[in-house]
Amino acid sequence: MQNLSYVDENEGQAWLNFLEQLDRVEPYLGDLKENLDHLRRPKRSLIVNIPVKMDDGTVRHFEGFRVQHSITRGPGKGGVRFHPDVNLNEVMALAGWMTIKCAALNLPFGGAKGGVRVDPTTLSKNELERLTRRYTTEINLIIGPQKDIPAPDVGTTPQVMAWMMDTYSMNAGSTVTGVVTGKPVHLGGSLGRSKATGRGVFVTGLEAAQKIGLDIAHATVCVQGFGNVGAEAALLFHESGAKVIAVQDHTATLYHPEGINIPDLLAYQKQQGAIKGFDMVHDIDKNELWNIEADIFIPAALEGVISKEIAQKLQTKLILEGANGPTDPAADDVLNERGIVIVPDVICNAGGVTVSYFEWVQDLASYFWTEDEINHRMDVIMRKAIHDVWDRAQHANCSLRTAAYIVACERILLARRDRGLII
Ligand code: NAD
Repeated sequence: MQNLSYVDENEGQAWLNFLEQLDRVEPYLGDLKENLDHLRRPKRSLIVNIPVKMDDGTVRHFEGFRVQHSITRGPGKGGVRFHPDVNLNEVMALAGWMTIKCAALNLPFGGAKGGVRVDPTTLSKNELERLTRRYTTEINLIIGPQKDIPAPDVGTTPQVMAWMMDTYSMNAGSTVTGVVTGKPVHLGGSLGRSKATGRGVFVTGLEAAQKIGLDIAHATVCVQGFGNVGAEAALLFHESGAKVIAVQDHTATLYHPEGINIPDLLAYQKQQGAIKGFDMVHDIDKNELWNIEADIFIPAALEGVISKEIAQKLQTKLILEGANGPTDPAADDVLNERGIVIVPDVICNAGGVTVSYFEWVQDLASYFWTEDEINHRMDVIMRKAIHDVWDRAQHANCSLRTAAYIVACERILLARRDRGLII
């Protein structure tokens, strides 16, 4: 395939990784592989200029993006990232992963992602609001409850989603809650959304543990990242009897071979803002995390943390990818050779987008479910997804990641073929 002219070799690594993942799935797609090029090109990429009047009266210009990678199976779905390193190629990759994630979970969405190249921590609340509203107006052309539905990602919050919803609604002339998800609950947000991703990590982890004969009540667990995803997953494992023996955040790496009291750590973190200084545990060097022997390892912080070298030394049976893209393709190969099971990000952390789907459905119906209903429906979808992928991996004799890509690509490419959009 001819390379896209706008793929930048310096900034395009994430997109190139996505293309490599598509190459890996190609041999398993039979006749459908003729059509895989569809996924090697984003459907629509919008670059916008966002002028913002700052509090001191000057005007600054920010670069913004919204990419709809695929809308074959439904409206685009994916977050908006406010971060100084955001670039078009990164947003394209993140949109591509959303296409795969939504299809692997069989949600009726395509994949999209957005971003603004800005450090939101340097803006006042008013500047952040003006930036968000102008960005929303600039991408207004292509978003909407039936077109493309943004959500929070790194650097964006329920408040940012509330401003996006309000700006879109002002232009539409009526309140359109279904245009974004991850809103505050009193503005059409869903119960259970904030805990959904960590809960999904736990639910898929339980299923995978059962498949490999690992008893959760006696398992040991290490968690990198103690935020929205990692803390909830750690709490659920702790409550199910597992020992969470190590927790790392950006300030400290806590270790105790008899297990850390997670509810107490959560209370401490809430008070202190981070985990450093928590009593009765060892604060070890951050690189030591990868040398700890534990049945389950949960990377739930950053992308690209498990390199080939780390993959060679990890002493674990099961990796649950709470973060997006924590494992390099080369590390993936090493872990597969060593027989370590990885529940890939596109399944493991899909609890968030699943409850976002529920939020969208509830907004469109103007009828809201209880948190128990949300959790139950999410568990059913997540369990089915991991079972489908597990069976496919057994059948095709491949990793769970490749199996997830096979399941997703088949769904997308079949939909595309039956719509008559294919050569
Ligand atoms: P968060 O900001 O709530 O928490 C991030 C955690 O990572 C914090 O505890 C932080 O201290 C820690 N961290 C940051 N830098 C670190 C470093 N250098 N070393 C160790 N720890 C570090 O973020 P989150 O919402 O929990 O997201 C975590 C990951 O999960 C990201 O990759 C995100 O894309 C992915 N994810 C999140 C959701 C969601 O619904 N929040 C959904 C899907 C995927």
